Amino acid sequence: MNRELLFQRIAVIGVGLIGGSLAGACRGRLAARVVGLDRDQIHLNQAIALGLVDEVGDLPTGVAGADLVVVAVPVGAIVEVVRATAPHLAPGCIVTDVGSVKGDLVDEVEREIPPGRAYVPAHPIAGTERSGPEAAAAGLFHESLCVLTPSSRTPEEALKKVMRLWEGVGSHVVLMDPFRHDQIFALVSHLPHVVAYALIGTVLNRGDGEEELLQFSGGGLRDFTRIAASHPIMWRDILIRNRSEVLESINRFRQVLERIAEMIRTQDTVRLVQEFQRAKEAGEQLR
Ligand code: NAP
Repeated sequence: MNRELLFQRIAVIGVGLIGGSLAGACRGRLAARVVGLDRDQIHLNQAIALGLVDEVGDLPTGVAGADLVVVAVPVGAIVEVVRATAPHLAPGCIVTDVGSVKGDLVDEVEREIPPGRAYVPAHPIAGTERSGPEAAAAGLFHESLCVLTPSSRTPEEALKKVMRLWEGVGSHVVLMDPFRHDQIFALVSHLPHVVAYALIGTVLNRGDGEEELLQFSGGGLRDFTRIAASHPIMWRDILIRNRSEVLESINRFRQVLERIAEMIRTQDTVRLVQEFQRAKEAGEQLR
């Protein structure tokens, strides 16, 4: 067994894309044993068959005896899952999550954690539009970012251990205020999904042979269909939970869209090229 073993028993609740990938990356390396828990029996069977977890179980027995519990369910279910888990958490246990929204949620989860147990909020910046254990990959977090958003109540020791967990699966860890996290991700992640849904909706709403229209779509529209193929429940939860920041981002987007529309209306070729050039350079830096 690896000498870097951080935990004796990790319980992962939600063995989908993110939970399954983290379980697979920890199994046999960072934890002596990884147990998978999920409301979906098919996902549990797949997690075992794919070798992502050592064992599966039900919530109370699966969580009891774990020194780390990872909550990897959609954002809208995190508080209720932590609440159901709380009576079974062993003394000294650390609870962490992987939710894409933080802000108030950190405080709400903290209120469910019994004394003598710790909570460390986390958001790995890795993923795909696919979901479920079959989309999971142990290498998913390699060279990715993971944002931890501790509060003033997060115990230092638990924070350090969760940092080492994410570093152990290949992530670079960044610490951030939970509300700052939601501002940033509303703009760089949540807004692009809203735009993708709106764009596909615009084509579908034309109402005159949309299937035929889609058949003519080039790479441009296809890039957006990939984003719009993400899990609908997951994105419903993220957008509703982070609604004030998301609505602020949509407002900013509206202003830019109107500015571009005005340049097109007035045939302002100079400003159009400036706008596109600025975007092209920003895109090139990211690649
Ligand atoms: P996923 O592949 O759909 O996996 C979620 C799993 O949790 C599914 O097996 C789901 O079962 C199960 N589940 C849902 N509600 C549950 C409940 N109340 N109790 C127990 N299990 C439950 O989703 P994911 O992409 O891994 O996302 C999980 C979390 O990671 C979300 O909070 C998301 O915001 C965050 N995240 C996602 C990404 C990404 O790119 N996908 C990136 C970073 C963070 P059912 O299928 O039956 O619902």
